Amino acid sequence: MTEISADVRAAELHTLEQEAAGCTRCRLAEGRTHVVFGAGAPDADIMIVGEGPGRREDEQGLPFVGPSGRLLEQLLGEIGLERSEVYIGNVVKCRPPQNRDPRPDEIDECKGYLRAQLTLVDPKVVLTLGNFSSKLLLRTETGITRLRGHAYPWWGRHLVPTFHPAAALRGSARVLEEMRYDFALVADVVAGRIEAPVPQPTRSDAEPEAVADDPPDPEQMGLFS
Ligand code: URA
Repeated sequence: MTEISADVRAAELHTLEQEAAGCTRCRLAEGRTHVVFGAGAPDADIMIVGEGPGRREDEQGLPFVGPSGRLLEQLLGEIGLERSEVYIGNVVKCRPPQNRDPRPDEIDECKGYLRAQLTLVDPKVVLTLGNFSSKLLLRTETGITRLRGHAYPWWGRHLVPTFHPAAALRGSARVLEEMRYDFALVADVVAGRIEAPVPQPTRSDAEPEAVADDPPDPEQMGLFS
C-alpha cells in the first residue's frame, strides 16, 4: 500500500475538523463552546482515545488540556515522547453536560469522525484511556481493571487499554504505577518489541476497524485467555 504523506493526512484531518466544527448531529452541539476534534501528529504511531471533552477542553477546543492532560503529558514523557508526537482524540467531540457519559445515540452520530481519524492517522497502537473508550472500542463489558495490562491485537494494529488519568489523580499510587506499566507496553509496541498483529478482515475497505458496527467480540477472539 502506498504510504500517505503527513501533509496529506494533515490536510484531510483539517477538512474533517472544519466539517465537525459545524456539526449539529446530536444534542451535545447545543451546549458546547467548541468542538474538540482532536490534535497531534497526523502520522503518529500512537493514537490516544479519551472519552469526551471536559470543561477546559470545551473552552479551548483542544483535548486533554486540564489536570488529566498534564498527567498524560508526564506519562508520555516517561516513555520519551512529547505530546506533539502522538495524536489525541475522544469518542465524542463535544462536551457532555456535567461530564456525564456519552449516550449511545451521541456516540453513533460521532463515530464517523473517530473512524476517519483512525484511518487517516493509521497508528501502530491505540491507547484507550478509561473504562468508557476501552470497553467501547474492544466491544466488551469487561471493566478496565481486568482489561488493562495487555496489548490486544485490534484490526491490524494493537490496542492498549489503561485507566483514565483522572482515575490516577483521584486514586491510589497503584493506579499510577499500572498506567506506567501500560504506557511502557505502548512503547514496546512502537519499538517492535511486541509482534505486529495479523490484519483482521474488515467489512469493507472504506469502513474499517475502529468502531465498525459489529467487530468481533474480543472475548470470542480469545484475548482474555
Ligand atoms: N477527559 C477526556 O476523556 N478527554 C479529554 O479531552 C479531557 C478529559
